[in-house]
Amino acid sequence: MSRVRSQNSQAELVVRRLIYSMGFRYRLHRKDLPGKPDIVLARLKCVVFVNGCFWHQHRCKRGNRRPASNREYWIKKLQRNVSRDRLNIAKLKKQGWAVLVVWECQTAQRGGERLKRVVSKFLANRGQRPIKARP
Ligand SMILES: [Zn+2]
Repeated sequence: MSRVRSQNSQAELVVRRLIYSMGFRYRLHRKDLPGKPDIVLARLKCVVFVNGCFWHQHRCKRGNRRPASNREYWIKKLQRNVSRDRLNIAKLKKQGWAVLVVWECQTAQRGGERLKRVVSKFLANRGQRPIKARP
């Protein structure tokens, strides 16, 4: 399986709809940015990753699951994903982007109120800050 980040996942659609309903507009999967962030709000200099708990090793029930066969292969592969994620986030921050990671399990919560709070706080904080010009 070559693609770790499956585009247009259910979780991603939930987050997109939420951000859209808040009145923000965005671009998707910008290839010119580290890690090809799922959602990019260029004016606010914000990116959002919607991560699958298993693939990106969230510390939750789903993220802690380990396939029964080929354990070593999987452990290595998943660890690589995690280090790649870290590297991409570091690169983005260095370029002046604010980064929010939303986990798949957060998008499955009933009502979605908590997710809504997290996302709106992230975007609102950013909106109030003057956007630094690129060096
Ligand atoms: Zn999770």
